[in-house]
Amino acid sequence: MAKIKILPENLSNMIAAGEVVERPVSIVKELVENSIDAGSDRIDVQVKDGGKRYIRVADNGFGMSRDDALLSLERHATSKIETPSDLFGITTMGFRGEALASIASVSRLTIKTKEKGKLEGTEVFTEGGIIKNVGAAGIPAGTIVEVRDLFYNTPARKKFLKTTNTEIGHISDYVMRTALAYPCIAFSLRHDKSTLCDIAACSEPGERVRMLLSGGDAGKLIEIFEEQRDLKLSGYISPPSIQRSTASGIYIYVNGRFVRDKVIRHALLQGYGNFIMKGKYPLVMLFVEIDPSEVDVNVHPAKSEVRFRDARKIHDLVSASIERSLRKLEWLPTGADSGGQTERIKAAAAGFLRKNEKFHAGNEPALAEDGLFYGKDIKTVVSGHTEGREVPGVKRGEEDFKAFCGYFSSLKVIGQLDEMYILCESRNGLVVIDQHAAYERMAFEELKSGYEKRSFKTQDLLIPETVEFSPGEASTLEENIEEIKRLGFDIENFGGRSFVVKAAPSILGARSVRGIIVDIVSELVELPSSRRFEDALEDILKRIACHSVIRGRRAMSFAEMKDLLERMDLSGIVPHCPHGRPSNIEIPLTELEKRFERT
Ligand code: ADP
Ligand code: MG
Repeated sequence: MAKIKILPENLSNMIAAGEVVERPVSIVKELVENSIDAGSDRIDVQVKDGGKRYIRVADNGFGMSRDDALLSLERHATSKIETPSDLFGITTMGFRGEALASIASVSRLTIKTKEKGKLEGTEVFTEGGIIKNVGAAGIPAGTIVEVRDLFYNTPARKKFLKTTNTEIGHISDYVMRTALAYPCIAFSLRHDKSTLCDIAACSEPGERVRMLLSGGDAGKLIEIFEEQRDLKLSGYISPPSIQRSTASGIYIYVNGRFVRDKVIRHALLQGYGNFIMKGKYPLVMLFVEIDPSEVDVNVHPAKSEVRFRDARKIHDLVSASIERSLRKLEWLPTGADSGGQTERIKAAAAGFLRKNEKFHAGNEPALAEDGLFYGKDIKTVVSGHTEGREVPGVKRGEEDFKAFCGYFSSLKVIGQLDEMYILCESRNGLVVIDQHAAYERMAFEELKSGYEKRSFKTQDLLIPETVEFSPGEASTLEENIEEIKRLGFDIENFGGRSFVVKAAPSILGARSVRGIIVDIVSELVELPSSRRFEDALEDILKRIACHSVIRGRRAMSFAEMKDLLERMDLSGIVPHCPHGRPSNIEIPLTELEKRFERT
C-alpha cells in the first residue's frame, strides 16, 4: 500500500497559513491589501487584544458577488491573475489567492460584502476553514472581514503570539507605513476602545509624511524626485542632522509595496556615505516605481521581498540621487542645517570637558567612571549596527550624537606605533588611530565649515605663484573663480591662460599651491556640464585636505597625541576620513580573547 497521501485541502491550507499568517499583523496586512486592490478610498481597521481575539477590516471598495465571496475562500482562488504571463506583470498587491483560505483555516472568519449598486449583500461564516453559514447581509457597498480567535484550532501556534502591546505595535507600524504609500486612502485604526489613528485622504504624499511623523523631523525632510524611462524614484530623505541608531526609519516601497530590500537599502546608505556616521541611519521614505515586468514580486510568501531584473540600475540611480540631494543641501550656504551640526558638537564637547575636568587634570587620563562615553550608546556606534524597533517620530539621534562626541578625548593613550599610529585604550579594547587620516579629516572639516560660513583662514604667499592652463582649463577656472576664492584662495587672471595666486588657505602652510590649484581645476573640468561647483566641492575639499597634511612617519609626544584626540572631537570628526578610509579602528577585548584562545 502506498505510504504517500495527498493531504486534505484543509490541512494544506493550514500549512500555507504557517507562511502567510505569522501573527495578527500578517492578517491585517493581507486584508488591507485586499481592500487596496478593491479600489477602496477608506479602510478601517479594528482589533481587540492586539488582534489575538478579534480583527476587523472594513472597506468601501467594489465588493464581491455571492459566488465570488464563496470562491474567495478557496485556496488558489484569485481574480488578479489568469495566465502564467500575468505573473510577470503584477500591478495588484495580491495575486497568490491563498490569503483568505489560509486565514480562514486557523480562525473563525466572517466575510460581509456587497457590490456597488446591488440591493443585497452576502455574509459567509467559516470555522477552521469550513463554511458554516451563508446568508444575506445588509451593509453599505464594500467588504468587511472579521477574524476571531486566531489559532484557536492550532494551540501550538497560539503559544508563539506575543503580548498585546507587541502585537498592536506591529499592527500600528504596518498601518502607518501603508498609509504613507497610499495618501489617497483614508485609514483608521482602533484598538479595544481607543483610536490609534484616523487619517483623512489627502492628495499629496508630502502631506501624509508630515501627518505621520510627529515632531519637527518632517519639516526638515528633503524631497527627492528622479525619473528615467521606465523607472521613477520619489520620496523624502532626512538631512544629516537627523541620525538614528536603528534602521527602523527607512521605508522602501516598490510599486506601492513596502519591502525589505537589501539592494536599495545598501544603495541609499551608500548615497549617505560621509554624510552620516557609521552605524547611524537616516530617515528615508523612498518610492520606487518600475515597470512591473522588471521586478519579480513572487519570491516571498508574505511578498515582503522582491527581485529586480536589473538591480545594478536601481542601485546606482538610488545612490546617485540621494548623494546629489545631500550634497546640494550640505554645501549651499543657505542649506537648512549648514554649520549647525558643528556648533552642536562643539557645545557638547565643551560640556563634556567641563564635566570631566578630573579626567584631564592628572598626567594619566583615567577612564570615565560614570560610563558616559562607554555606555550602550557608544557601543552601538563603535561596534556597528544594532537593529531594533524605534517609536516613529522619537528622535534619538541627537542624544547619541552628544554621547559620542567626547569619544576620542576619553581614550587613554598607550603610545605610538611605527610613528604612524596612535594606540589607545577604550573600555571596549584597543583603539588604533591613523594619525595621517585623522589630520586629513580635520583639515577637511575645517575647510568645509570655512566654506559654509564664508570665514576661511587665508595666508598671503611670500612669492605669488603663476600657473598656466590649457584653454579649456582656463575657461573652467574663470567660470568658477568666485567659488575658488571662497575656499580661501586669492587668485586672478594674469592675462590669457595664466593665473596668479597671491594667497591660499592657511591650512596649507608653506606648501606650494600650484599642485593644488591644478588639482582643483582638473576636478572641475571632469564635472559634467549639468553639474555645478557645489557638486564637486566635496572632492575638491578632500584634495586640499590631502595636500595639507604631512605624509609619512612622525614621532609624537604624549601631549601631542592627547591634543590630537581632543581636536578630533572638537572638529566633529566622525570615524571616517573623507576618502572613506577610517581614521580609527577598534579591536574589542573579546576579539583579543578569541585570538589568544581564552574563550
Ligand atoms: P489574492 O488577494 O492573492 O487574490 P486572497 O485570498 O487575498 O487572494 O483573496 C481572494 C480574492 O477575493 C481576491 O482575488 C479578490 O477577488 C477577492 N477579495 C478579497 N478581499 C476582497 C475585498 N476586500 N474586496 C473585494 N474583493 C476581495
Ligand atoms: Mg490578497
